[in-house]
Amino acid sequence: MSDAFGSKNRPTSADVAIIGAGPAGLTAAYQLTQQGYRVTVIEKDPIYVGGISRTVEHEGFRFDIGGHRFFSKSREVVDLWNEILPDDFIERPRMSRIYYEGKFYSYPLRAFEALWNLGVVRSTLCMVSYAKAKLLPNKKVRSFEDWTINQFGQKLYSIFFKTYTEKVWGMPCDEMSADWAAQRIKGLSLGGAVLDGLKRSLGLNKRPNDGMATKTLLETFRYPRLGPGMMWDAARDKVVAGGNHVLMAHSFKQLTQDQVSGRWRLTANGPDGDVVIDAAHVISSAPMRELAARIHPLPACALNAAPKLKYRDFLTVALKIRSEDLFPDNWIYIHDSKVQVGRVQNFRSWSPEMVPDPAIACVGLEYFCFEGDGLWVSSDDDLIALATKEMAILGLCDPGDVVGGAVVRQEKAYPVYDDDYAAHVETMRSELEARYPTLHMVGRNGMHRYNNQDHAMMTAMLTVRNIVAGERIYDIWGVNEDAEYHESGTEGEQAALASVREVPARVTKAA
Ligand SMILES: Cc1cc2nc3c(=O)[nH]c(=O)nc-3n(C[C@H](O)[C@H](O)[C@H](O)COP(=O)(O)OP(=O)(O)OC[C@H]3O[C@@H](n4cnc5c(N)ncnc54)[C@H](O)[C@@H]3O)c2cc1C
Repeated sequence: MSDAFGSKNRPTSADVAIIGAGPAGLTAAYQLTQQGYRVTVIEKDPIYVGGISRTVEHEGFRFDIGGHRFFSKSREVVDLWNEILPDDFIERPRMSRIYYEGKFYSYPLRAFEALWNLGVVRSTLCMVSYAKAKLLPNKKVRSFEDWTINQFGQKLYSIFFKTYTEKVWGMPCDEMSADWAAQRIKGLSLGGAVLDGLKRSLGLNKRPNDGMATKTLLETFRYPRLGPGMMWDAARDKVVAGGNHVLMAHSFKQLTQDQVSGRWRLTANGPDGDVVIDAAHVISSAPMRELAARIHPLPACALNAAPKLKYRDFLTVALKIRSEDLFPDNWIYIHDSKVQVGRVQNFRSWSPEMVPDPAIACVGLEYFCFEGDGLWVSSDDDLIALATKEMAILGLCDPGDVVGGAVVRQEKAYPVYDDDYAAHVETMRSELEARYPTLHMVGRNGMHRYNNQDHAMMTAMLTVRNIVAGERIYDIWGVNEDAEYHESGTEGEQAALASVREVPARVTKAA
């Protein structure tokens, strides 16, 4: 139901022009539509809305760009999800394991199972290195590696932390900041994990993993029956039904403000050439780096800060495999350096409706990469062959059973937090906000924040309130930075602002 416009009814004027039809852009468009504003959204993707939260369809099989759980501590966000998609949420059991050297480890760990899998020699080495770390801790904790070894010992660190973390972030653990480890793994001690694992192994831990005590993981989660894209398709349909416009295949080209009227001219390039939207406000969920570079005349931050923002990219290889089901997990973390894949998603476990043929399983192998690197530029055929080979190495399928595949590349999946990113973001924010009160940056890359859908939505919801109020009454940058709320806590328990997940910062490598 995207509305590809003919030239006759091409919009020239709107109250608000929005760049990007991801969760942030569509949340703003939906709420503004409800309040009677004229809105035009431009989206560069020709087919899908939802951004990183889209659901891709290939020959009837559906898959996410990484599985997307719907969880928020913000009551407002949960209510909005229910309002947009009242009848299509399903409650799914959460199961994920860690794969390491041919064995599967429950996640969170179960003590007996972990010790059994590791074997006597390795378990003893783990205990010895743990004891050593406790007796002789590193006093100069600088890096993720230092912090984690102090907490768990060298051996457990190398098995359960190092490989996967390095795959995700593309940098060595001894160059990531210790703060991030403390934040990420906070509340988890080996003693606590063993005790918890013992209780679980003995069936004494009946309480669901609500994560209130430690950063454990929710045991069920909500999910739209056809994937997260279903939420954003519904939001787009409501915007269009309200008389507003979502222009697919339209890329943001230039933004100019009229010095006299203060109105914006947003130029987007689409299949029929350029479209110019004249609007009182612009909301941008495009990467900050891109926004600054396209404002005319160029702001100073387009040269001194924007080019320094960096990203980690991501691709999924979806494989269709002749099998009813390969494994019961929603996803498996691959802590094994023999393969490049970081995680394997099992889409039938997310929702049986994602996989239309009961005799075929559909899995998504996730590769973390940089745009332009060897993985990113590989042909789809080569990536499907690599994924097939790696599934066989992991012992998860017989290559002869793979009957098809598809590749989805996601540029700028993760905004990188390096040493200077915060200063660059602040430079951009202060210049652009001071100069342009009617230009609003929202969402994940729009604010260069490593956050989930609910936070991206909350920034849009507060922006809508600012537009309606005619002034910035909410500071969308001042949100609570409590990390990892998605993994713990009670849904909807927090009335006000969503929070932001932490990511590692790079530290200077010791000489
Ligand atoms: C692997 C992975 C797993 C995740 N898992 C979860 C999860 O379990 N739960 C959860 O809640 N969140 C999850 N997230 C986070 C979630 O995907 C994001 O927080 C959310 O999509 C951000 O929404 P957004 O609208 O800010 O940005 P985006 O989703 O990036 O949307 C931005 C939109 O703007 C468009 N756009 C960009 N530039 C232009 C341009 N120049 N012209 C026109 N259009 C443009 C893009 O095409 C896109 O559609 C995950 C993310 C990743 C990478």
